[in-house]
Amino acid sequence: MFVDSHCHIDFPDLAAREDEVLANMAANRVGTALCISVTLEAFPRVLGLAERHAQLWASVGVHPDNDGCEEPDVARLLALADHPKVVAIGETGLDYYWQKDEPEWQRERFRTHIRAARHCGKPLIIHTRSAAEDTLRLMRDEGAGEAGGVMHCFTESWEVAEAALELGFHISFSGIVTFRNAKALKEVACRVPLERLLIETDAPYLAPVPHRGKINEPAWVVHVAEEIARLRDEPLEHIARATTDNFFRLFRHVTRPA
Ligand SMILES: [Zn+2]
Ligand SMILES: [Zn+2]
Repeated sequence: MFVDSHCHIDFPDLAAREDEVLANMAANRVGTALCISVTLEAFPRVLGLAERHAQLWASVGVHPDNDGCEEPDVARLLALADHPKVVAIGETGLDYYWQKDEPEWQRERFRTHIRAARHCGKPLIIHTRSAAEDTLRLMRDEGAGEAGGVMHCFTESWEVAEAALELGFHISFSGIVTFRNAKALKEVACRVPLERLLIETDAPYLAPVPHRGKINEPAWVVHVAEEIARLRDEPLEHIARATTDNFFRLFRHVTRPA
């Protein structure tokens, strides 16, 4: 069995095909997927998916790229996280690629999420782009290691991976690791300890080879696992089992299917 640790089934391209997306998951042995919130406005749709389908779970949070939406505070995040199908806080973090002026509100929002995660004991889903140094600094400042979590869609250097691992975090690889030009990332995927490895699609974005350029979906997380197995020279079943076990250990509020 495989787990997609990060996807956006509430986004229009996938929401319009909800039944088909779930059927494709089942056909590819993708038994569980975590649906990630990017705004509080969208959270009810994410939670709705998790409430309708036993194999789907939800996070609550506001993505660092979203300006001009409802700003969360700790109390609001805790209230929304207080639901049996909400198992993580995020996605949160810093993104200086799209916000080149490196706004203070991103860092404040990130601190708010870390405080909420520590408070409710649910792990963090961290997005970082062109902001690794500040991301790690805030994680240390705010004691993010106490909540634990995952560096999602990892694209940074081994040094950044190592620092996140030292804080107790997991490293999740997306379809980017299957891209031919992702040489440095492929090396990072070989070095992350097996017990800290996760896989994801970030669907509808970042479809893995051989579907590159198409609308991604959770069923295709299998291709991420295949590439990591090839890179590490391990049987696919080992990568499937390790990433699945890691997911259920980290997101301990998720019920593991029998
Ligand atoms: Zn992200
Ligand atoms: Zn995402």
